[in-house]
Amino acid sequence: MIPRVVITGRPNVGKSTLFNRLVGSRLALVADTPGVTRDRKEAEATLAGTKVLLVDTAGLEEAAPDTLPGRMRASTSRAVDEADLVLFVFDARAGLLPEDKHFASWLRRTGKKVLVVANKAEGRGGAAATMEAYELGLGEPVGISAEHNEGVYDLMRDIADLL
Ligand code: GDP
Ligand code: MG
Repeated sequence: MIPRVVITGRPNVGKSTLFNRLVGSRLALVADTPGVTRDRKEAEATLAGTKVLLVDTAGLEEAAPDTLPGRMRASTSRAVDEADLVLFVFDARAGLLPEDKHFASWLRRTGKKVLVVANKAEGRGGAAATMEAYELGLGEPVGISAEHNEGVYDLMRDIADLL
């Protein structure tokens, strides 16, 4: 079966930007189809020669299950259950926030394979912010800029190597 790679992290860290970047031109195919949502959540992609199913998620938030953030969290949790690899994305410019640390430890307890991705790591300070994430205990973090397309090919190779 095609491995599932699930993109998680708190809102606004750049998960959907990374999803679109990894999926590439395939997304354009669906965006122009009437009746098909532009906000596509799953797509096949070939990353450094390895075919994967990429899954974008709504974002990890702490909330009661009967609220919208709560439902978002429940759907993220289901997506993680089915994942062969979880990309845990944080915002390198904001640094690690308490919510990031909280969800990193939740992810650690799931026993899933996790790759930590420091997004928005372009420019000065990007590398230092990336290294800060070693403290999550989830292995070597990868610094990228999804928006500026920096480090994305190396990330694809890292993903392929982990599957
Ligand atoms: P999501 O909520 O995690 O899916 O985040 P989005 O993909 O919607 O991105 C949130 C915001 O971060 C948008 O304004 C993006 O343009 C911006 N963003 C995404 N990736 C980068 C990046 O690599 N660098 C910078 N500076 N901004 C980014
Ligand atoms: Mg998003």
